[in-house]
Amino acid sequence: MRTLNWMVSATLLLSLSAVAQNAADNQPTSQPATVSTSTQAPTPDPTQTSAQPQAAPAQPVAAPAPNAQPVAPQAGPQPTTMDQVVDRFVLREKGLVKMLQTRTPVIETYLQNLTLDPALGPVPQNDKYFLGRMDLSTTIDRKDYIHDDVSMEKHLLGGFSKLFKVQYQPLGFSWMIFADRNDFDRQHYDFRYVRREFLGDVRCLVFDVTPKPKSGQGRFLGRVWVEDQDYNIVRLNGTYAPRPRNAYFFHMDSWRLNLIPGYWVPAFIYSEEGDFSAGAKNALAFKAQTRIWGYDLKKDGASDELTNIRVDSVQDDSATAQDASPLAAERQWQQQAEDNVVERLTRAGLLAPEGELDKILQTVVNNIEITNNVDLPRPVRTRVLLTSPLETFSVGNTIVISRGLVDVLPDESSLAMALSHELAHIVLGHNLGSKYAFNDRMLFSDEATYENLGFKHIPEEEAAADKKAIDMLKNSPYAQKLDGAGLFLKALNTRAGALNALLTAHLGNNMTEGAAVTRMSGLMTSAPQIDWNKLDQIAALPLGGRVKLNPWDDKVELVKSQPVAITSARDKMPFEVTPFFPRLTRTGTTDGTNTNGNAANTAPSAATTADNTKPAN
Ligand SMILES: [Zn+2]
Repeated sequence: MRTLNWMVSATLLLSLSAVAQNAADNQPTSQPATVSTSTQAPTPDPTQTSAQPQAAPAQPVAAPAPNAQPVAPQAGPQPTTMDQVVDRFVLREKGLVKMLQTRTPVIETYLQNLTLDPALGPVPQNDKYFLGRMDLSTTIDRKDYIHDDVSMEKHLLGGFSKLFKVQYQPLGFSWMIFADRNDFDRQHYDFRYVRREFLGDVRCLVFDVTPKPKSGQGRFLGRVWVEDQDYNIVRLNGTYAPRPRNAYFFHMDSWRLNLIPGYWVPAFIYSEEGDFSAGAKNALAFKAQTRIWGYDLKKDGASDELTNIRVDSVQDDSATAQDASPLAAERQWQQQAEDNVVERLTRAGLLAPEGELDKILQTVVNNIEITNNVDLPRPVRTRVLLTSPLETFSVGNTIVISRGLVDVLPDESSLAMALSHELAHIVLGHNLGSKYAFNDRMLFSDEATYENLGFKHIPEEEAAADKKAIDMLKNSPYAQKLDGAGLFLKALNTRAGALNALLTAHLGNNMTEGAAVTRMSGLMTSAPQIDWNKLDQIAALPLGGRVKLNPWDDKVELVKSQPVAITSARDKMPFEVTPFFPRLTRTGTTDGTNTNGNAANTAPSAATTADNTKPAN
């Protein structure tokens, strides 16, 4: 009975018709509480040369202390002319630059170089992965988690240098969070009003932006969408021009989300180059997704470490309290290591805080446990790694699965497959990571996480876990649906050669070796053949279709977007990168008076302006 209940809830939550395309519906799940104590008068911007009314719109007052919640700027008088609107969003952009000076968000870029497949269209040929932490204090700088010997030159603004071969510059993708960090103003740009347009729930004014002649290289050229309440830029679409010799600037579509009152913070950037029309010769063709999160993370190594030390009450009132037995001590030791690792990964911006998605994952794990009479001394927990590469690992009784992997899994049985492998490690006692119970091993910079933590098993344990996992699945509610899991692995097998970066696990074991799937490969033999032209056969999903990540607080949840019907083999895009189209929505209010984030959760569109006419698109 209990099993059935678990099953039903998991199936309801996960009855994911496997056709979800496009990016998440990015309505924020929660917002940080804001403190709005500032009563200071707005500071006029000295760089502003055009005549400003005295009651100029406020900028955020004084640089906030590191990681204090940003104070929503006071709303100024509504602009009455388009020139005033331009002045306003130029000012708000400076306010955003200033607010982000104390932030060090994580930035991830996943890029697929493309080749033309006659049947499937442009498909991945090979891929690249960058993960870094931005420092926005004086310019746009970054430190990377993954070190690639060749591509770390930082002097080019964007794009890549063409030395001997195409070389991508991760910093170029970081650059795309702003149109122009330092010089976005009337001295350097012409602004032309185009029209009004809705993006999601948010009515926007659209402006074309062109650099003035001789204003220098690498200026923004394109279009910006400005929301019509506070006049923040919410979307930038275009490129940078003119380009320096030996470098290119990519085209980009850069989206921001209103996650805290008064500010729209950069969240997603889609880049694409290439032309597959007849006769076109591609110097390069690629698609890339850049995601930014971890805005609310503590600065690494900051001196606030000491102030954070709390002395918790440790008194044990139980009458039977006594020293732990050797086995109990061993288990406590494992748990200490597990807690250390989970805490450290969360602090490094790599692990989502415990949340709604974990409940779904835990339900799937429970379904397997109960039907196999698995009885562990402590319950198994699950957490979501925030990164795209497909990987799972476990530490103590915590199973970790990456956001990218949850994204591409087509159904619940495939999810059960991914989780069962780690559950098998736990059941078999393949405990890794007890060395992390020593706290000195947690003392490293966030960017050095991958050098300092690792949970790779030896091949013998991998084989044993695969065998145990398949046995458990065959005895679980998923027994009759394992074709789906096998089909997923087959699809992975067809793309494995091209997706080396996506399939490189950074903390756990790879699911593939060379161009072949090794993880639970036994499930592939009984699965049906991959048939791209069979439109109802969905073996794997595109990236980004499943998990919604809040870039401010790193919380994740499942996307509830409407499935889009697949009409050709080219619509399937397994493991592929697609553009972002987040549904923009406002969070709370920006007048700074006692904003309560929870209110906006139940009525996300409550703050839209009176004109509720929805756009045609
Ligand atoms: Zn394993």
